[in-house]
Amino acid sequence: MISDFDGVIVDGMREYWWSSRQAYFHLIGNHASNQLLPEEIPDTFRLMRPWINHGWEMVLMAAELAHPESILIKSGWKFFTDQYSLSCQKALQSRGWTSKELQTALDYVRYQELTKNRSGWLSLHQPFREVVERLSSLDSEGFDLAVLTTKGKDFTSELLDNFHLAPHLLYGHESGSKTQVLLELATKRSLQGFIEDRLETLKTIRGNPKLNHLPCYLASWGYLKPEDSQELPRGIHLLKPETLAAPLARWK
Ligand SMILES: [Mg+2]
Repeated sequence: MISDFDGVIVDGMREYWWSSRQAYFHLIGNHASNQLLPEEIPDTFRLMRPWINHGWEMVLMAAELAHPESILIKSGWKFFTDQYSLSCQKALQSRGWTSKELQTALDYVRYQELTKNRSGWLSLHQPFREVVERLSSLDSEGFDLAVLTTKGKDFTSELLDNFHLAPHLLYGHESGSKTQVLLELATKRSLQGFIEDRLETLKTIRGNPKLNHLPCYLASWGYLKPEDSQELPRGIHLLKPETLAAPLARWK
């Protein structure tokens, strides 16, 4: 069984905002605009989390929130998310940034904090306890657990250790896209299913002819868009906590 991390195993909202804000300050090279970005998580940032695919997009959201003239502030989050990829590209271009720079800044501030304030950084993350316990128990059903995330592998590993969850395999953004990793895994192992809270990701995976038999589970407790759980495409099942608790054979 393969599981996503953020939004499925952990609620890291406090850390997402903290690190995105810090990464933004790191990128602009001064802290003069601190007051423009509150320490408290802005509602818009929370609302937009279901659209986020990669960490760098969160840094971009922080930058957008810091500028009154940005697309996000001027046109609103609904407009931004209606054409999410395009809006991200425009927001990057307007600052002359690349996604790689933003991801590097995000990983940098996370490493810094992990080194200087490990327990503080860990405490910004709230594990979904029932999920951690259920995934730990897969072993007893004869299944291995793999964690597949767009977060950095090292950070994920630290958090998993802290939650006492030890997957057999762990893949971060360094391993390539989720589709690439699953395609490679499928050549070596029989895959039982993939739990994820981003519907777009599941659709992309199911759209690959070599992965269209992989049972996909949309975690109902994750960062879902309001309409995500309505009329799911064939092969994508809404996974509720009560189903998660049942034996794997009863999930579909
Ligand atoms: Mg997720």
